[in-house]
Amino acid sequence: MHNLMQSYPLRVSEIIDHAARYHGNRPVLTRLQDGTIEETRYADVRTGAMRLAQALRRWGIARGDVVGVMAWNSARMMEVWYGVPGAGAVLHTLNPRLFADQLVYVINHAGNRMLLVDPDLLPVVTAIRDRLDTVEAIIVMSDDGALPADAPAGAMAYAEFVGAEDGDGFWTTGDETDACGICYTSGTTGNPKGVVYTHRSNLLHAMSMLQPDMLGFSSADRVMPVVPLFHANGWSIGFSAPMAGASLVMPGRDLTPAGICQMLDLGVTVTAAVPTVWLMLLQHLEAEGRGLPDLERVFIGGSSCPRAVIETFQNRYGVQVMHAWGMTEISPVGTICSFKPEVRARSGAERVDVQETVGHPPFGVELKITDDADQDLPWDGKTQGRLWTRGAAVLARYLKADAPATDAENWFDTGDVATIDPLGYVRITDRSKDVIKSGGEWISSIDLENAAVGHPDVAEAAAIGMPHPKWDERPLLCVVPKAGATPEKSEIIDLIAQHVAKWQLPDDVIFLDALPHTATGKISKLHLREQIHASGYS
Ligand code: ADP
Repeated sequence: MHNLMQSYPLRVSEIIDHAARYHGNRPVLTRLQDGTIEETRYADVRTGAMRLAQALRRWGIARGDVVGVMAWNSARMMEVWYGVPGAGAVLHTLNPRLFADQLVYVINHAGNRMLLVDPDLLPVVTAIRDRLDTVEAIIVMSDDGALPADAPAGAMAYAEFVGAEDGDGFWTTGDETDACGICYTSGTTGNPKGVVYTHRSNLLHAMSMLQPDMLGFSSADRVMPVVPLFHANGWSIGFSAPMAGASLVMPGRDLTPAGICQMLDLGVTVTAAVPTVWLMLLQHLEAEGRGLPDLERVFIGGSSCPRAVIETFQNRYGVQVMHAWGMTEISPVGTICSFKPEVRARSGAERVDVQETVGHPPFGVELKITDDADQDLPWDGKTQGRLWTRGAAVLARYLKADAPATDAENWFDTGDVATIDPLGYVRITDRSKDVIKSGGEWISSIDLENAAVGHPDVAEAAAIGMPHPKWDERPLLCVVPKAGATPEKSEIIDLIAQHVAKWQLPDDVIFLDALPHTATGKISKLHLREQIHASGYS
């Protein structure tokens, strides 16, 4: 029997059409660059995206061309999110926190023909303009339509660029496997690597994220992505929130704890960001003595979420923590920690034990752990191995790479080390390059760090392996105390001893003013190791 169902290409333009048609009045609230709150609606976002698609086509952007955007989360960014793919082009989201050399590399490597840039980020682009080989035009996304005085020669204001268009156009049609977006991993070693998403992969990933055990947004939610849309495909929120018809709150550039609180007060029910953001927010809430009356759920991922953060959100503020794991290469979400009935039946503390894992995958993500000989390891919650994944939203090959990124059976080596328990809950114990190897056994740097930040005087902690003549490597813990605090080494070690075996305890604790971070806000172990080495510590 032949297929009698319709051919209906899965294109992301369908998402914003759906949001405008069925949730057209749902607000998208943005903090503009001057701090005022602007109210837009999905219907307006769609019109804006269509005007941009028309303008891009008129200017000469063709199917498959790459258009870069360097902008904070805003309704305008959402127009770009849909306008560029709607014109058949590929949206390259740029992280302004990358080093200048890395930005030059990724913009040239992806072959961006045009850049759309927030006004406050113009200096970042102006500083490297001479080195951008493929960029023909720069469009400044100013709120008031004016071109800032420091704009590079030839730049054009967004309002002027889209000005002649009426929003009554069409989306470029094509195959569902056409490229739709590009995001580079931040490249802690070597140059960043480009991941190219298709319309189909983004749409399927967003649908999987709307399962109730995953992001599970509904049209009654008001979602604030604190995580910038340029980080790891925006954690799917740019696609899944409009698909569900959930209202959006876009914080713009002010990501300070006070700035985040101001936006949470706009009735935000769901939010998402990396742990560092929440560590700072919780300190701020405590200092201000205020609560989080509207917030129901907070998605935390990108690096491991300390138990203290989970407990404070849940016990003090009544906000459910959803610990998540993902990576740029997998669109990006791989697992989320929601409670299966077997877990829901457990006591409060036992449930928090489970929340230290990153949860289980949605339909569409396959996982396995293997040993060094690539043999499958048991799902007993104890055995650690390399974590592999495959699925419809997992990359096959990096942009312009000579070889596939997967093995012959499509499995992608995540570079993470994990255990999986019999219920399918995954615990990330390390990145394979950060794991500490002591006497042939692995020590989880994440376990040591999470235990250390449970100390009330510790702001941040990082564990690294130091060369050791007998054991190969032994853990060194680097700690940043909270402002004005002077924790004792022994107190920190005693606290960690409650969580790990004695032989896994750090040999030493050193105190630092700050730890080096990557462009996505994670602790850069590479730079930390260099720093410790350069300091002559042994
Ligand atoms: P970048 O390194 O550019 O920030 P990604 O955001 O893609 O790139 O980083 C993905 C990596 O982040 C994962 O491979 C994993 O090591 C780490 N990670 C993400 N979420 C978690 C988590 N919840 N716990 C521990 N590690 C995590």
